[in-house]
Amino acid sequence: MKKLLPTSSAGSLPKPLWLAEPETLWSPWKLEGDALHDGKCDALRIALQEQQQAGIDIVSDGEQTRQHFVTTFIEHLNGVDFEKRETVRIRNRYDASVPTVVGPVSRTKPVFVEDAKFLRQQTTKPIKWALPGPMTMIDTLYDAHYKNREALAFEFAKILNEEAKELEAAGVDIIQFDEPAFNVFFDEVNQWGIAALERAIEGLKCETAVHICYGYGIKANTDWKQTLGSEWRQYEEIFPKLQQSSIDIISLECHNSRVPLELLELVRGKKVMVGAIDVANHAIETPEEVAATLRKALQFVDADKLYPCTNCGMAPLPRQVARGKLAALAAGAQLVREELVRKELVRGELAG
Ligand SMILES: [Zn+2]
Repeated sequence: MKKLLPTSSAGSLPKPLWLAEPETLWSPWKLEGDALHDGKCDALRIALQEQQQAGIDIVSDGEQTRQHFVTTFIEHLNGVDFEKRETVRIRNRYDASVPTVVGPVSRTKPVFVEDAKFLRQQTTKPIKWALPGPMTMIDTLYDAHYKNREALAFEFAKILNEEAKELEAAGVDIIQFDEPAFNVFFDEVNQWGIAALERAIEGLKCETAVHICYGYGIKANTDWKQTLGSEWRQYEEIFPKLQQSSIDIISLECHNSRVPLELLELVRGKKVMVGAIDVANHAIETPEEVAATLRKALQFVDADKLYPCTNCGMAPLPRQVARGKLAALAAGAQLVREELVRKELVRGELAG
């Protein structure tokens, strides 16, 4: 029988001090050439070992080989000039200097496939691999070529599909697309965002997930959250259409968040990665706090479809905090798992 409530993290984990400056996004590498390649592999091994030691069931690379969840993928593509930068507003929230799309975009060689093969060799557990989603990719660039958000998103979706197929062949069990932009551009999500995502997963046989969150615990995001009021109903705008999509799993932020969990009813039938760990503070949750969030989610998600997870990536956190949070996630999930098994036993006895 498949394990109930399999745990995983949303994606990134902190990098070791010797590889990159800790507690920073876009932190430059501290190594070069072959030493950098070996260093990334070693960091990936450590990230895996820490997840396994914490008791995480579906493991990942902790994004140890990338500087940033969107830009590292784009750096490997043709058609984007990283020297030519323009300032744009990202997710309607903060200004950033971003690279420019100067011509047709294409992928000349695999981006993460070797890393995924390496991870596959290191573990027999199910593995999840994160890729940026098409809408979040276009939102991180200045487009001087297509001059059309939808057209560029579909070009990226085609490229993501090529990469995803090779990741699947490398033995990845779940391919996840990170789409924080889905929480901002509701009209576009419904008009073409979900369709672009469908293009990215076309023909895949492995499971697919979309991660939609309120972002890393960086200041621009926590300030934005202050403006969202007492109830965060963003998911309500996009869930009906996502429920109809062919995406298997939806990964969401639920812990310490003002998202009314009854919104999960709108995606009934999908598997849900329920964020039960806050990534915006350094306090390590108790297993009981994690369990409380999971129990609430169980009112709206069938037990066999609930996947306990973190709210978002943990790259900006101190390493010991991230380790503690992973262990709390596993321990909290175990509490609820035992409750479910006990209930099932009681039900079995009553039936027998
Ligand atoms: Zn996230």
